[in-house]
Order: sequence, then C-alpha cells, then structure tokens
Amino acid sequence: MNGILFRDVRLLDLAAPKGMTSICALRTKNGRIHEIAPTLVPNAGEDVIEGNGNLLMPGLINGHFHSSVTHMKGRLPGLPLEIFMLYECPELEVLRPTPREAYLRTMLGCIEMLKTGTTAVQDDCFFVPEPEPEIIDAVMQAYTDSGIRARVALDQPELSELEKLPYLTEMLPDDQRRQMSLPSRTKSQTLLALYDHLINRWHGTADGRIKAAVSCSAPQRVSPGYFSALDDLSQRHDLPHYAHMLETKLQRVFGEECLNGRSLVQYTKDLGLLSDRMNIIHSIWVDDKDLDLIAASGASIAHNPISNLRLGSGVMPFRAIRDRGIPVCLGVDEAIADDAINMWSVMKTAGMIHNLSGWDYENWPSATEILTAATVGGGHAMREPGLGSMALGAPADLVLLNLKTLPFTPLNNLQRQLVHCELGTSVLAVMVSGRLVVQENRLIHVDEESLVGEARMLFEEKSDAFERADKAVSKLLPHYRRMYHKAATVDVGMERRLEVFTRDKAIL
Ligand SMILES: [Zn+2]
Repeated sequence: MNGILFRDVRLLDLAAPKGMTSICALRTKNGRIHEIAPTLVPNAGEDVIEGNGNLLMPGLINGHFHSSVTHMKGRLPGLPLEIFMLYECPELEVLRPTPREAYLRTMLGCIEMLKTGTTAVQDDCFFVPEPEPEIIDAVMQAYTDSGIRARVALDQPELSELEKLPYLTEMLPDDQRRQMSLPSRTKSQTLLALYDHLINRWHGTADGRIKAAVSCSAPQRVSPGYFSALDDLSQRHDLPHYAHMLETKLQRVFGEECLNGRSLVQYTKDLGLLSDRMNIIHSIWVDDKDLDLIAASGASIAHNPISNLRLGSGVMPFRAIRDRGIPVCLGVDEAIADDAINMWSVMKTAGMIHNLSGWDYENWPSATEILTAATVGGGHAMREPGLGSMALGAPADLVLLNLKTLPFTPLNNLQRQLVHCELGTSVLAVMVSGRLVVQENRLIHVDEESLVGEARMLFEEKSDAFERADKAVSKLLPHYRRMYHKAATVDVGMERRLEVFTRDKAIL
C-alpha cells in the first residue's frame, strides 16, 4: 500500500511538557507509521497532506459498543439497566431486522465515529430476536465498507431470563414463570457454529482491519460449558473476550443470592476463565477482592461513564482500578444509552465524574490518564500491539486536528483542551490503517448522504414495530420493578451512587 506523507504537523506526545512535539513530518507505509523526522521529502507519486502546524494524534478507540441499537438513540428515558433491557432487546419477532437494516444501523455508527475521529471500535453486537449469518454478514460488510477498524463479537445469552436475575422465580405468577424459564431460542451449538462463520469469513479481512472477538455477554447469562467454549475460541485465535460484570447493584445482589455469595468476578475466576484476553465491561459494583483478581489476571476494564450515568448504574472506582495497574479503555456502550457515539464526550465525562469519588483531589483523573485510556488503553484491550500510539511501526490510525478552532483558542493546555473542550468538530482528516477515510468533514469511501437518507426513511417506518414491542413490556414491568427495588434495599457493603441526595428509601 502506498504511503502518505503528513508535513508541517505536531504529534501528540503526552510525555512532552506541551503535550506535543515541535513541527515535524510523518510518513506512513503499508498501513503503519513508517518514518518521523523534522522534515521529509515526498517520494515520487506519494500523496502529501499539509498539516499547517496542526495536531496529528492517534485515532480514538471506542472500547465498548453495541451497534445493534444505533437506530434507537433517544428512544428511552433514563431507566435502570434491568428495566431498560426489557425495552431494548426483547426476543420479539417484530423487531427482527432485515440485512439492509442491520447494514444501515451499523453504518450510522461508523459515520458518526469516523467523522469525530474515532478510528476503531469493539462491537459487542447482540441480535434481536436471534443471530443469523445474513445479519452478521451485513454488520461486517458495513464495517468493511466504512473504512473503520472493528472487532466484532456475537453477544447472545443462552440461559433463560429466570436464571439471569435474582428474585424473579418467587415474584412471577405461574404462567409468566413458565414462559420466563424457557431457554433463549439460540442454543450454544448454534452460537458456536455462527462464531465459525464469523471467524472463517471475516476474521483478519480488509488487510487485518476487520477482526472477530468473543462475548459471553455476562457470566450469569451463559452456561459454564458455553462460557468455557468461548474462552477456548478466544485462546485459539487470540481474540478479546467481552464480559459485562457488576454494572448494577442488582448484579452484585445476584452473586449474594444465586452464586453462594460470590461476586461475578469471583465466579468467573472459579471457572478458570478470568484471563488477560478478557474485557471486563463496567466493573462498578466491584470490591477490593474483585479488583485484586482482575489485576492478577491482566484483564482490561472497559469504562462507559455516560452509559453508567444514563442508566443510573453508579460511579466506577477509577482510582482503585488504576492504583492496581489495571488497564482501562473507554467506551460509548451504545447509542440508546449515551445517546451519541462520540468519544470526546465520553472522555469529558470520564474526566469529571470521578471528582465526586473522594476528597483527595490529587487522586482525581488527569487529562493525560483519560487520553491514554481512549487511545493506547483501547489498543491494548483490542489486543492490537501499538494501536493508539504514535510509535514507529504502530498502525497508522491517525486524526489530523485543527488547532485554530474555538476549542483550542487560545491554546493553554493541550491535554485538558482535548478532554474538556473538543467535541470532534476540529477534525480535518482521519486515516485508518494508512488509508484516508475522512477529509473535509466527509467520508471518502461511502455515500454518506444517500445512506443516512435511506436509514431515516427505513427506521421511521419501523416506529409501529417499536411501539408494539413497548406494549409487550407492560405485563412484566411490575415484577421487574419489584425485583429492582428489592435489590436496591440490600446492603452490599459498598455505595456507588449519590444516595445522599435521593429519597429512594422513602419510595422503597
Ligand atoms: Zn455494554
């Protein structure tokens, strides 16, 4: 692949006093950063991008995402996860997408990410009502066509709803209990066959830009046998393994009630499945013992601060995690729980929310820590060596950022202005794997206008289906509310929310 020469740029350098290098030139070759020098002369026929003294930095990495609900942004009010999921992903036939819908919703996410300087994503893709090869292919094709770097897993629980949640067995009337004790319609053998399809057809395609991952969704949502088979797959192909853990207080209570007092982290460790390939997603209601186990395993934690606020899940213990050296990446989670797909707002929120966690302000996250999590932290979680750095030989996933825009005028402190001022509007050009994908605020390789127009028309026509699905929730809602409130009253020995300001106790 031909290289591209960036001239007259400053490179992000978090260790430098000003956060960037002096003016220099950078050449890419074969999809990687090939050469950096004060000046470089173009080779014959080489494309040159004039940087005009602006900033060349690693692309941001969306370390945790579900593309499945990108078309549902703004649909739901703030709701706790367990209630939220009733609306978000019921196994209803009426919500089955066509391959074209799956393609378009994935592409909407790619467009929003690429235009704001996110160059890589880990998609923990779930499927309503069930995964099918045609839908998987449509998702993968969208990632391929858009030009973004993507890891994609199939996030599909196989246990019944009753097995995944505490209290429901005793709370539901007989007919609903029978209904909810049915296993998920997709069996583990089918899911493993679909993984074969994903890996054989897509893993390592587009010059290694498109890859597979595995996902148990969450330890309590799968049988130990399937969980272990996924770990085998992850080990065999060196794939990240995504697992949501201790996102909510109710999930902590689940361990007390259904796992003999063990946390989901301890349970995973006891199964022998906690590994450095694991991305532990959320990790809010963790205790010191959980964090020691995670640190010893080498796993990464995916932090989704906006989703955690949107669903009222709580504040992740950032400093306790970083003090143990646990690698952290940042994620959007999903467009229905953010509701943008913009890593700049994720960084800003991550840079502020932890200031409420303790009086010792020297322990609050620095802008450099947040930028590190959104770049090299993401590359580490994705198991892509060098990704997220500006090192020679690293993948050339780069963003040229205009330093003459309002967010950087005047330029007082680059790191802090990147985290707290910029929202993606200063992006001049985006490169993934050495290939330009965005220039002049337009995607180069897809017809954005026509795709967005088609998506608007198609998904607006589906509003009836969403409303029918919402109605189906009403029978279950009172029982889920009781379950949620009962879990909220349990003393789990930690607090992760601002209880001092709430009147929840009165409601309970
Ligand atoms: Zn998630």
